[in-house]
Amino acid sequence: MLETPCHLLYEGKAKKVYTTTNPEHYIVEYKDDATAFNGVKKATLQGKGTLNNRISNYLMQYLQTQGVPTHLVRELTPARALVKRLTMFALEVIVRNLAAGSMAKRLGLQEGSPFEAPVLEFCYKNDALGDPLINEDHALALKLASPSELQTLRALALRTNTLLQAYLEDRGIILVDFKLEFGKDAQGQVVLGDEISPDTCRFWDAQTRQKLDKDRFREDLGDVCQAYEIILEKISHA
Ligand code: UDP
Repeated sequence: MLETPCHLLYEGKAKKVYTTTNPEHYIVEYKDDATAFNGVKKATLQGKGTLNNRISNYLMQYLQTQGVPTHLVRELTPARALVKRLTMFALEVIVRNLAAGSMAKRLGLQEGSPFEAPVLEFCYKNDALGDPLINEDHALALKLASPSELQTLRALALRTNTLLQAYLEDRGIILVDFKLEFGKDAQGQVVLGDEISPDTCRFWDAQTRQKLDKDRFREDLGDVCQAYEIILEKISHA
C-alpha cells in the first residue's frame, strides 16, 4: 500500500511526525536541524536528515533480525521512514559503556574511562524540566511505567547494547553510549521507537578514537556530516 503523509502530528527538534491513511502507521521525517544543550545551540546541517534516517533504519533493521522489536516498517524516501504507531513512555533509557558527556561531568570521571558492566540510566522526558535523571522509584512514583515494563525496558536496552556493541566493533566503531526511547504498540508490546543515529549515540573510531557523532557539533569540532557519512559507510559493510 502506498502510504503518504496526511497531516503533521508533531514537529520536534530533529524530526517531524505525520499521520498516514493507515491509523496504525506514522511517517517520520528527519530534518537537517541540529540542536544541543536543550535547544540553546542551533544550526542547519545540510544532509544530516537523510544520513540519520538511513543510519537509524539500518541499525533498527539489524536489531529486528536479532529479535529486538522496533517501530520500523520500511524506509520510504531518503529522509522518511514508515513506522508503527506507538504510545511512547515519557522516559529516555541511556546505556553507557565508557564515561562521557553528562555522566563524566557529574561524577568527575575522565572521558573514555571504561566500565566493567554497562551503566543504565533513566531520564524523565520533560523539556520544561530539562529531561532530569531519575531512578526507577521516581519512574514508578510518576507512573511513567509499571514495574514489569521497567524490567522490560532495562532488558531490551541491555540486549540492544550487546548487539550494537558487537556489530559496531566488527566495523571499527566503539559504542560509547546511547539513548533509546520505547513505546507500546496496539497489542501492548514494548517496542523500540525514536531513532538510533549519531545524534543519539556516541560513536568513536576504534583506531583513532576520533568522535564520529553529535559531539562534533556540541564541541565545535567541525565536519559533522562527514563524520555521519563515515558511520553510514562503516555500518553498511557486510
Ligand atoms: N542523548 C540524546 N538525547 C538527549 C540526551 C542524551 O540522544 O536528550 C544521548 C547522547 O547523544 C549520548 C547519550 O544519550 O549519546 C548520553 O548523553 P548524556 O547524558 O551524556 O548527555 P549530553 O552529554 O548529551 O548532554
